[in-house]
Order: sequence, then structure tokens, then C-alpha cells
Amino acid sequence: MTEHTMSEYFKNIATGATTIATGMGITLKHFFNAVKRKGDAGIDDVDYFGQVDGLVTLQYPREAVPTPSNGRYRLHNDIDDCIGCGQCVRACPVSCIEMETIKVMPEDLAACGKTSGGQQKKFWVPVFDIDTAKCMTCGICTTVCPTECLRHTPVADFSDFDRWNLVYHFGNLTRHEAEAKKRKVEEAQAKAQAEKERKAAEAAAAPAEPGETNP
Ligand code: SF4
Ligand code: SF4
Repeated sequence: MTEHTMSEYFKNIATGATTIATGMGITLKHFFNAVKRKGDAGIDDVDYFGQVDGLVTLQYPREAVPTPSNGRYRLHNDIDDCIGCGQCVRACPVSCIEMETIKVMPEDLAACGKTSGGQQKKFWVPVFDIDTAKCMTCGICTTVCPTECLRHTPVADFSDFDRWNLVYHFGNLTRHEAEAKKRKVEEAQAKAQAEKERKAAEAAAAPAEPGETNP
């Protein structure tokens, strides 16, 4: 073995040892850093995801990964601001919103109230159900909602043993209230129809003006 080859041999060993030491140094640094929580404020730190060091394993379900404030998670409808326009229902690509509305009678407009933006509500919304098991949180419904009452919340974990518990109800009337209001609308419609027919019958029975001929 020549002197040059010997020197090359020991140089390679030194390079190998340095490489291993560097790698192990980085590994040990992360190892010891990982005994601490991420960031000073822990899991509630707004910059949680920007922090490199710290524990990645959480004590779930006692603690969970924070959700970003602009994330699209479980939907909520502030039903007091919902005008029952149905735009969200029509826009949903998977038809997971079910809505029923009842026209508000003129004498009940004040009781039905206005949205927080001052818009008079003209429909009761006894049923507004969102099937979150089907919802893909695309956000289209929130985009088209004119009053912005439909919005995403930061709630990302809402698993349940019963699939039907994943249907969230936001309607603003009980079943009995809805039935009473429907009856009231039907009675008013029947009365209006009867009045229309009475007037038509009166017109048909009226004597013809001179020069006119009855059909
Ligand atoms: S987020 Fe998308 S899938 Fe879910 S209810 Fe809205 S439109 Fe439908
Ligand atoms: S689009 Fe908004 S206001 Fe209209 S029915 Fe849906 S939630 Fe209500």
C-alpha cells in the first residue's frame, strides 16, 4: 500500500466518522427537543404548524391538533339570520342540506323578525338539516349564502357511533309550531280561493249591460 493510498484510506474513514457524527448530532438534537411541547403556548399556539421542534404525538382525545382559523370544517347555521332562500340547498353538489320553509303571514312578520343585517325574514325555516356524514366541506353553500349565516366552524373532530347523530338540525320551529303555521297559511289560501270563486260567480251572474250578450 503506497503512502498516498494510506492517506486516502484514513481520509475516507475520517469523512465517514464526521458524516455519522453530524447525522447523529441532528438526530439527537431533535430527539431531545421532542420531549417538549411545540412552542411556548403549546397546542393553542397560533404558529403551531410553523414550529419545527417539539412533540408530534399528542394525548388524543385529551388534546388534538389545532385547526387553522380559515379552515373549512363542520358547518353551522345561525338560523336567526337565515332567510330561507334555499340558495345553499340548490348549490350543494351532494344534496346534503334539507330545508323546509313556511311563508310568514303578514301579521306575523314582526314576530318572525329581521336578520342582524336588517333584512325582513319572510319564511319560517322549520327544517334546516345538514348531513355532515355526506358533506365534503367544499364551502360552496357558505359562498352563496346572502346573509352569511351559514359558516364553517373550527370543529374538525365530531365522530359518532350513530351515523344519524351526524345530521345536525338548525330549524327554528318545533314540529307543533310548524304544523300550526302551515295550517294558518292553508286556511288563508283556502279563504282567498273561495273569495276569488265567489267574485267570479258574481260576475257570471251579473245581468248583461245593454248591447252586451251573455255567453
Ligand atoms: S360544504 Fe359543500 S358539501 Fe357541505 S353542505 Fe356545503 S355545499 Fe354541500
Ligand atoms: S343560503 Fe343562507 S340564508 Fe339562504 S337558506 Fe341557505 S343558509 Fe339560509
